[in-house]
Amino acid sequence: MPKASATVLAVITGVAALAIPILVSIKLAQRQSLQSEMHRALSYATEVMIRSERTDDQIYDGIDKLVRTRGDSGDSPCSDMQVALMREIDLSSSYLQAIGYVSKERLLCSSMGRHPGGLALGPVEQVTRSGTTIRNNVRLTTIAPDTTFIVIQKGSYAAIIHKSLPIDVSTQEKDVSLATFTPGYREVRTARGLVKLKWIDELDGRNQATFFDGEYVVAVVQSTRHSTGAVAAVPVVYLNQRVREFAMVLVPIGLLAGIALALVARYLTRLQQSLPALIRTGLRRKEFFLLYQPLVDLQTRQWVGAEALIRWRRADGGLTRPDQFIPAAEEAGMIQRITQHVLQLVAKDAPEIFKRYPGFHVGINLASNDLHTRDIIDLLQALLDSADAGPHNILIEATERGFMNADLARDVVKEIRSLGIDVAIDDFGTGYSSLSYLESFELDYLKIDKSFVDTIGTDAATSRVVLHIIQMAKSLNLKMIAEGVETAAQEQFLREHGVQYAQGWLFGKPMPLEQLLRELAKAEPEKRI
Ligand code: C2E
Ligand code: CA
Ligand code: CA
Repeated sequence: MPKASATVLAVITGVAALAIPILVSIKLAQRQSLQSEMHRALSYATEVMIRSERTDDQIYDGIDKLVRTRGDSGDSPCSDMQVALMREIDLSSSYLQAIGYVSKERLLCSSMGRHPGGLALGPVEQVTRSGTTIRNNVRLTTIAPDTTFIVIQKGSYAAIIHKSLPIDVSTQEKDVSLATFTPGYREVRTARGLVKLKWIDELDGRNQATFFDGEYVVAVVQSTRHSTGAVAAVPVVYLNQRVREFAMVLVPIGLLAGIALALVARYLTRLQQSLPALIRTGLRRKEFFLLYQPLVDLQTRQWVGAEALIRWRRADGGLTRPDQFIPAAEEAGMIQRITQHVLQLVAKDAPEIFKRYPGFHVGINLASNDLHTRDIIDLLQALLDSADAGPHNILIEATERGFMNADLARDVVKEIRSLGIDVAIDDFGTGYSSLSYLESFELDYLKIDKSFVDTIGTDAATSRVVLHIIQMAKSLNLKMIAEGVETAAQEQFLREHGVQYAQGWLFGKPMPLEQLLRELAKAEPEKRI
């Protein structure tokens, strides 16, 4: 994937990982708030309804009592005894304003006494299913001129109640609308605040309904015992306030969840940026460079060449050693791109070296895959052309593993040598090579691996192996380069046993081109070949 789109994808994933939980938490806050406001509206409506029901209970109890006593005594409806009973009922019923006897729409007597000529109640407005009649706006001018009452009448008896009584419910928010109504009638009996009649329609035969109409969160309920219903409506401002309250809690939680998700997303994209992908980017960003380790002639101790060793300076500044990425690159089939890059780097550095020291050589490491196609021949030819170098300026180092696919490798090695370039077998003795198959290759040098050089002068069981290797190289007519020489004793031993060249910290560590050139200049130029 190209870097730009990978970055865009990572950013999109990150933003989504952050945004989605926040959006979800806001949605959740809204849903939660709506539910809790509906619940609140429902509890107000229910409270109003319960007050209405209790009022109705007291009315019917009172009227029943009056009907029963009068029936028993055969008294006239406004006898002293009846009026006294009315008074008694009134006193014991907290919701009743008065209770009395009605004839021809006039209240003849009541718990307030006898009303000579009667008090006009006006026409009946509503009739319930059980035949109870209701007047919603009665004014009893002689008793309380400024107040309107509800008069509920059953048979000839009627109860007078204060209009605001059923809705006298305390609410937490001051502008909650409350109302009572008579089921079957599309009008309110008594109301506080704005009440829309269409809310009552929402009941649609059910006992309760809650909904949001865009401006109010509304609850409508209807009694199962009496002909009475109630409405409560909470204005949208309280809903919004609720949303804010919930959001204050839920959004931070969502944010934390989002951060956690974003971290997971980042971790996953990191994982995706596997080593091959990183190598590819590294190549493009020119994060690879070469160090050169000098190779000395053990007879003269002169620097006759240098091995090019690749280094990777990562974008974060960290240096990655080749044994950490070369095997991964080989596995991912990317080693040839690295080799190509190394050859380009050598082509860039070489002219400066060979111009000053025409006999000097640079060693180039090839991986086993490089030996399996002819591509390397063309690349080497291009290097010879571009770097203005002779074939003697290049030494190819191929590991034993490169010779595993012997038939392919043999031809490629042959072609490299036919360019006039010398070939060395690297890491000799660490792999599976046998003498017989080594014999089948035409080679020029054998590099004695550091692990054998390390044993020189010790009594390790393998310390004699180095002598065998030297013997073998001689019999195959291969010149020798000892690797990893760190002590003077090792140097002496190798020289005494006829090893021609050596490399190691004793002579010089891998160094940048500039340092190599400086060191070479320090030595006497006429001594160079
Ligand atoms: P190698 O080809 O056997 O290279 C020799 C390694 O031994 C180098 O390690 C070098 O720095 C190290 N060395 C040299 N002298 C001494 C010494 O006296 N003491 C110690 N302790 N170490 C010494 P380096 O540079 O880490 O390279 C490791 C391996 O990575 C190389 O082993 C080679 O197989 C591979 N490599 C390096 N550069 C390239 C490259 O450009 N292409 C390919 N295909 N492989 C490379
Ligand atoms: Ca090497
Ligand atoms: Ca080696």
